[in-house]
Amino acid sequence: MTNCLLCLAPLKVEVGWDLKWLFNKERMCCSKCLASFEALEGPLCEICSKESVLSVCTDCEHKNRFLDKNKSLYRYNDFAKEYMKKYKFQGDYVIGAIFQKELKKLLSTNDTIVVPIPVSKERKLERGFNQTAGMLKLAGIPYEEVLARRHAEKQSKKTKRERLEAEQVFCLQTEECCQTEITLFDDIYTTGSTLNLAAQKLKESGVKKVTSVTLFR
Ligand SMILES: [Zn+2]
Ligand SMILES: [Zn+2]
Repeated sequence: MTNCLLCLAPLKVEVGWDLKWLFNKERMCCSKCLASFEALEGPLCEICSKESVLSVCTDCEHKNRFLDKNKSLYRYNDFAKEYMKKYKFQGDYVIGAIFQKELKKLLSTNDTIVVPIPVSKERKLERGFNQTAGMLKLAGIPYEEVLARRHAEKQSKKTKRERLEAEQVFCLQTEECCQTEITLFDDIYTTGSTLNLAAQKLKESGVKKVTSVTLFR
């Protein structure tokens, strides 16, 4: 591979700077693009990774929490939004691989089962794939699709808001979940409500600890 997956600039112009990456198969985009993703470096809320001077941010203090901890990697800035648009809505599947190194580091080391946040059947059909599971697959991280979106009947009679709310309801793929610890994976942490609902469902079925990793927040 000789071109940056995101901006298509040739990667070999950088060879002189650091020869090591030449042999690193995980290197997929140029340093300019990489630098456009802003790492969340803190100070961060120790529970949800929000940038916060308080060790526990005000969101987490007031929330009925089922999710024990969230770790997010990058700020959801304009560059990240563009990236997600390309990946999710324009179906540029290969660019889902550019974070494989970071994700492997975070998700392959622990013994917990990794569970991607599912998309609805309709969206999966629209896009042809579940983008969260897709990123895990590209990174070679084993995962189990324990959760599914529950499909409310007669979607067409609902308002857009009602449809969106219905999509947030999760169910288990199997009768019960016998894991004690699960790490959820999602692309973006916005308010945390999706992950929290998923964590609630898992805890109600006996999972003791639910944490999450997201690329952006
Ligand atoms: Zn680039
Ligand atoms: Zn927080």
